[in-house]
Amino acid sequence: MPTAVLGYAAQSATSAVAPFEFARRDLRPDDVSIEILYCGVCHSDLHQARNEWHSSSYPLVPGHEIIGRVSAIGAEVGNFQPGDLVGVGCMVDSCQTCEACQAGLEQYCEAGCTFTYNGKDRLDQSPTFGGYSQQIVVSDKFVVRIPAGLDLQSAAPLLCAGITMYSPLRHWNVKEGDKVAIVGLGGLGHMGIKFATAMGAEVTLFTRSTSKIEEAKAMGADAVVLSTDAEQMRSVRNYFDLIVDTVPNKHDFNPYIATLKRDRNYVVVGQPEPIEPGINGWDLMMGRKSISGSAIGGIAETQAMLDFSAEHQISCDVEVIDIQAINEAYERMLKSDVKYRFVIDMASLKS
Ligand code: NAP
Ligand code: ZN
Repeated sequence: MPTAVLGYAAQSATSAVAPFEFARRDLRPDDVSIEILYCGVCHSDLHQARNEWHSSSYPLVPGHEIIGRVSAIGAEVGNFQPGDLVGVGCMVDSCQTCEACQAGLEQYCEAGCTFTYNGKDRLDQSPTFGGYSQQIVVSDKFVVRIPAGLDLQSAAPLLCAGITMYSPLRHWNVKEGDKVAIVGLGGLGHMGIKFATAMGAEVTLFTRSTSKIEEAKAMGADAVVLSTDAEQMRSVRNYFDLIVDTVPNKHDFNPYIATLKRDRNYVVVGQPEPIEPGINGWDLMMGRKSISGSAIGGIAETQAMLDFSAEHQISCDVEVIDIQAINEAYERMLKSDVKYRFVIDMASLKS
């Protein structure tokens, strides 16, 4: 018998996120059932609750920064036991056979990975529902282990914000002394500062917010450049080895690209829309610069990121909220008024 669980869902692009009861499937042989303790609130939750990516199906239960405790396991699960502390990020399945999956890059599955919410189960086509809920059932291949020493509340955002920043820093081989810049100090951006600092880079934050300067430095940033100040932007021309842009809205990339060194790379993680205004090709050519994108990280890399976080005592700066405050949290996130990630205490679902 499928289990009835309580969660919070958006019923349309314009409705508030509100209580919603739905069913979690019976355990398949490779499934792990997880009682959800905490779930981070990603800007992607807001984008999708409001259909800003034009691909939302309703009801939509957001949440892909999930931390919980294993409550039951399927007959063939050998690597998890009831009671284990585990995490689930943005994916719950992939084809497992294509070149990307074989390379441990399930997020780039050539058949399309199955997202934790607003996706379709590969076997029965039922909609996937995310972590704003009591419980989730996930194939063990998409469950990661929370290492001892990580505080559970502040570890939740590692499952998306953390891995989304860790993966491009690793892919582009950030090392001691590299000059790395992060654009935007939100959920993703603040993790970018912490990981790049732990990898030994000299880290700069680009921000619009003077109020964030001191906090960015306390997180490890060596410098902060106000992106609204043309003089400050000029002072870092041709300076950076790698820039990771986390801004969730359309904005001009050109002033940032001017701050890259020759042969270096600008990684977009924030903006899925067409890039506007356009990119000045001349500025790319004269310096042989590249622009690329990056999406979350594979499962093995997510585990490596969690282990790295425990080893380097890296955690997210979080504001813990009750689920009843989720709509207000979205509004505050839109105003960049969160330090620096909301995390829902799922115990509040019961009240
Ligand atoms: P967030 O917490 O809202 O942070 C975004 C930050 O961007 C803000 O704090 C702000 O920083 C800056 N910003 C906002 N609007 C801006 C504008 N109009 N111009 C310039 N800067 C602006 O969001 P998040 O959760 O970090 O997510 C950021 C984006 O990444 C979202 O679009 C999300 O969907 C996407 N995302 C992508 C992946 C992936 O795999 N690629 C994974 C997760 C999320 P300042 O105040 O410092 O300027
Ligand atoms: Zn996310």
